[in-house]
Amino acid sequence: MQKVRTFTVTPSLPEPLKGLKDIAMNLFWTWNPEFAELFRRIDYNLWKQSGHNPVKMLGTVSQARLEDLANNEGFVYQLQQAEEKMQTSLEAPTWFDNLYSKGSKPLIAYFSAEFGIHESMPIYSGGLGILAGDHLKSASDLGIPLVGVGLMYQKGYFRQYLNTDGWQQEMYSENDFHNMPIELIRKKDDKPLTVTIPFPSRNVLAQIWKAKVGRVSLYLLDTNLPQNEQQDRHITQTLYGGDRETRISQELVLGIGGLKALFAMGIEPTVCHMNEGHAAFMALERVRILRSEKDMSFDEASEAAKSSNMFTVHTPVAAGNDEFPPDMVDKYLSGYYSKLGIDRETFLALGRIDPADKNEPFKMPVLAIKMSSSRNGVSQLHGEVSRKIWWNLWPELPVDEVPIDSVTNGIHAKTWISGELTQLYERYLGSKWSDEAVDKSIWHNVDQIPDEELWRIHQRGKERLVAFARQRLKRQLQRRGAYHTELGWAEEVLDPEALTIGFARRFATYKRGSLLLRDKDRLIKLLSSTDKPVQFIFAGKAHPKDHEGKELIRQIVHFTKQHDVRRRFVFLEDYDMDTARYLVQGVDVWLNNPRRPMEASGTSGMKAALNGVLNMSTLDGWWCEGYTPEGGWIIGSGEEYDDLEYQDQVESQAILNLLENEIVPLFYARSSDRLPRRWIRRMKNTVRWCAPRFNTSRMVAEYTRKHYNPAAARWDYLTASGMSRIKSLAAWKKQVRQAWPELAIQDVDVKVEEDTSLGDLTAKQPQLRVGSQVKVAAKVKLGKLKPDDVAVEIYHGKVDSEGNIQDGAVARMAYQGNGEAQEYADFAGTIPCRASGQHGFALRVLPKHPDLAEQYEPGMILWESAS
Ligand SMILES: *Cc1c(COP(=O)(O)O)cnc(C)c1O
Repeated sequence: MQKVRTFTVTPSLPEPLKGLKDIAMNLFWTWNPEFAELFRRIDYNLWKQSGHNPVKMLGTVSQARLEDLANNEGFVYQLQQAEEKMQTSLEAPTWFDNLYSKGSKPLIAYFSAEFGIHESMPIYSGGLGILAGDHLKSASDLGIPLVGVGLMYQKGYFRQYLNTDGWQQEMYSENDFHNMPIELIRKKDDKPLTVTIPFPSRNVLAQIWKAKVGRVSLYLLDTNLPQNEQQDRHITQTLYGGDRETRISQELVLGIGGLKALFAMGIEPTVCHMNEGHAAFMALERVRILRSEKDMSFDEASEAAKSSNMFTVHTPVAAGNDEFPPDMVDKYLSGYYSKLGIDRETFLALGRIDPADKNEPFKMPVLAIKMSSSRNGVSQLHGEVSRKIWWNLWPELPVDEVPIDSVTNGIHAKTWISGELTQLYERYLGSKWSDEAVDKSIWHNVDQIPDEELWRIHQRGKERLVAFARQRLKRQLQRRGAYHTELGWAEEVLDPEALTIGFARRFATYKRGSLLLRDKDRLIKLLSSTDKPVQFIFAGKAHPKDHEGKELIRQIVHFTKQHDVRRRFVFLEDYDMDTARYLVQGVDVWLNNPRRPMEASGTSGMKAALNGVLNMSTLDGWWCEGYTPEGGWIIGSGEEYDDLEYQDQVESQAILNLLENEIVPLFYARSSDRLPRRWIRRMKNTVRWCAPRFNTSRMVAEYTRKHYNPAAARWDYLTASGMSRIKSLAAWKKQVRQAWPELAIQDVDVKVEEDTSLGDLTAKQPQLRVGSQVKVAAKVKLGKLKPDDVAVEIYHGKVDSEGNIQDGAVARMAYQGNGEAQEYADFAGTIPCRASGQHGFALRVLPKHPDLAEQYEPGMILWESAS
């Protein structure tokens, strides 16, 4: 092989244009439309050819054009304005500064396998990544001290195109790192800083790229280094590509390498956030670092790490594929067991639901759950679903007490709302609407927007979408070698006046991309109406290995080719953030028909809603919270079915019924000035309800209040004074765990209003009046424990027909004496009878310590037993 010497060429910007580079190198421009405007002005064609990548464009624009612009006063002035705006925006006091300026500043590290910030940084595949990107943007807006950690993929996710049969083809294009808004982290001697990740019988090196996302830094690891063996250079090649070995290798680089990289740069996080289980090895590395630097045992170090790790789960099924067989874990991590100070079985147990099951694979979400102290699903419904899925990790608890709550997803408003609508919101809601987006009251002002104005802007979005779709379709046809006559057709496809319905998402089977096609005749009738035409735009990728998903795409494409529908039913290839923006800003209705409860949240519908697009969706994910009558529409009413075929039948008919009876007539009901006034009313209702709720400012603020700040405070408190608190907490826990089997609850006695003793209630079922107080006393055998070591609780509530307590509430019992001297301690408490019906209670004992991050410890929850 020949020796290649490399060098990097950078554009030579004339002095007055120097500022362009700073703007291009901070992804802040992606959510501030006036910056993109600047780049478009330089050379619109190059802007498009570069895939909206300003760094690349500045490298290719001709020197003559640059000189030209440097002498253009208008342009130079616009650039100066932009520079000033960027500077003042990034230096202004923030929400976080205002609220949390006292006390030490936490540092949150947010780990994710993908980040979707802009189409010109293709290191994302779909919703999870875009959520992560929007999280960083809002963290920047709010001034949260947060850094992102991810992987810099050489090829990223695949680009999609279809063959003439409609079968998905995948193409990977190289990411040219030197023409992207990223910079290598270098040491003092200018050599790239690298971290070493132990692999089976070798080390893998990774270098670190930094992307600026407004105020926030995103660090991306890259193993494509000449020092690595060929196979290791490819670890960070593609997102979600390769096999299980590739996956575990990527997750080692992300989790272990990611945390090492932060430490190597002198960044020591106080709170670590795992966005999905991919990043969970981070938690182990955190333990390893604590052990080696602070001389701690595994129990002590994991107690410390857990206290400030948090985990966001995104999957709605337990059988996700983010798990590894035990022998693969041995292969890659056996060297790590001793570094953590634990044996193989203890290690494998960290990723198992049933530690005794030697065949159970090592599950990354389980590791993340066990190594964190706060966890959440991504919508209220998904929180509920997650508590059910992971309930077997806390089998002693009632499902609704399983410690996984929810923070509903959002979207970054300024990224997804069209430039024109942004200006309209500025006019009617105030120039700071995006900073105050969580304030529900400002959104009442959407009622002040004249219908004409809102409709005109909406209509403009639709015209832009139609033009975009025509161009895209023409390119698609050209690539497939279509005849000229066919190309002519692409120029006339779609009608900017027609009711336009969008459906774009990953083609995973549960999303049921072809549901609409079940009754083709009825659908064709809608499509071919001449007075009330309806048209559909579809887009989306299937995972390369998902043949069923690809089959759905093929069915849709076959349908689009039928002569009587092809002008009104189109499929756009290569769904990405650019296509997504055109769609959510340009359609009238956003169709979403996942099989409940498989859609953890969904965010594309939020993007649509904030643009005034009406959602039509099954009651799943975010829509359970987003739907309001007179906003969008629901398909069915949240039913779940065992017979999936039947469900598809029912729900596809429901979609067509809605369209025929409600949506089409409403859209075409025009006032004398041709405005669909009742439709516009619904648009405003949608914006008013959804905008303050489903944006990432609300979401990131919620994470900060509920999770980041409490976790940071715990970390500061527990790790102060040489880790002494955490060490004594770990010692206490060990002692309680050992003594736990001796605990017992006995001699339960129940009284009403002091006087009448009801014994232990086992013999009779007394009738009590609403408003009475039930007094419960019990003796607890403490063994070696002190009364203060335990919380004795009455778990009470309505009893269902199966004899289980529903939505139980908890009342603490107070220690009454005796415990120090004698074997049994007395506890007593009271519960109210608030409503009529059958009620019941059960007694339980939990460990109690002021420093415990969470109350529920698997294996340390004792209920009074039934026998
Ligand atoms: C928003 C978005 C998604 C996620 O949409 P869902 O509603 O979660 O399916 C996926 N891909 C792209 C390109 C997006 O912009």
